[in-house]
Amino acid sequence: MAHMKDRYFTPGPTELLPIARTEIERAIRENICSISHRSKQFEAIYAESVSSLRQLLTIPESYSVFFLGSATEAMERIIQNCASQRTYHFVNGAFSKRFHTIATAYGREADKKEVDLGLGFDFDKEEIPRGIELVCITHNETSTGVQLSPHEIARIKERYPEMLLAVDVVSSAPYVEIDVSKVDCLFFSVQKLFGMPAGLGVLIVSPAALIRSEQLASVGSYHSFKELRQYAIQHQTPETPNVLGIYLIGKVAAFFLQQGMQALRTETEKKAKLIYNFAEKSSYLKPFVAQPFRSQTVICLSCSEDANDVRARLKQEHFYVGSGYGKFKDNQIRIANFPAHSQADVADLIRRLGTST
Ligand SMILES: *Cc1c(COP(=O)(O)O)cnc(C)c1O
Repeated sequence: MAHMKDRYFTPGPTELLPIARTEIERAIRENICSISHRSKQFEAIYAESVSSLRQLLTIPESYSVFFLGSATEAMERIIQNCASQRTYHFVNGAFSKRFHTIATAYGREADKKEVDLGLGFDFDKEEIPRGIELVCITHNETSTGVQLSPHEIARIKERYPEMLLAVDVVSSAPYVEIDVSKVDCLFFSVQKLFGMPAGLGVLIVSPAALIRSEQLASVGSYHSFKELRQYAIQHQTPETPNVLGIYLIGKVAAFFLQQGMQALRTETEKKAKLIYNFAEKSSYLKPFVAQPFRSQTVICLSCSEDANDVRARLKQEHFYVGSGYGKFKDNQIRIANFPAHSQADVADLIRRLGTST
């Protein structure tokens, strides 16, 4: 019997990009995992990866690019390095809440504006209290499939230039078109749209955030912005890093650039539309999120039957989708729509979602 390929539409980890598979094999052949992280060979890999990321995300030269262990680590480093007392969080799901929880755990006075799950924010109408040092936003709330406007996020910086702005783009980069020069800390990990094995976080930091970090007394140890930067300018990291991940991200970024970002975005929107259109007409599924907040990259659907049964049925056909988050476990599914998911795979998934039993 022919072995059927497993398809992962889970929102991270997820299907690997074919280029990631090929490059993992090449990396092993070329002993990338055995070279010293203090060698010229590593420095060249690091420099190439950062250069591709700068091009991919249009990162200004004055901004630093740091490699960390995860996106969750990035949240913690941002809190430590950018605020000594007061932070402000826009909370609409599990990941934005995690950012707030970390600030509280570090003893910061963490204020928040919280809305119901499935909702977003109209930032042009939001008022942020004076005296806040750091504003934290999750661009794409993976737990509920809510996506916010990157243009509105960028305008926050114009209205509140004295505050630092941190934006989580973990489940939307590089699809999201955000003006990096209007953000102080932008971060993501690689097991979502980059289609790579987990275990690498990328944090992009503005000159203003670096200065703030230098003014604060307690900014952590080996991953303080200052320490990270001292190594970054030599194309190194303070610790022995995820060398394979740093190698791969350069190859994946170069692949995206070669494909063209416009094509990647158009394709993403086309696939999202296929899924949402299908769900609108389905007898047992419907989109959880209303416009204008519907995510293009993580699609959350409410099920009128037990979502565990829906997932079990798909699993029998070797298709894996995400469960609903937290209290929505039994009545939602979440479908990742990342570059690793081809239009043909999406069409196949839709066919298998078919009708309810
Ligand atoms: C997955 C995810 C995270 C956490 O990423 P880790 O790499 O597991 O730390 C944070 N924010 C969002 C929006 C995510 O989707």
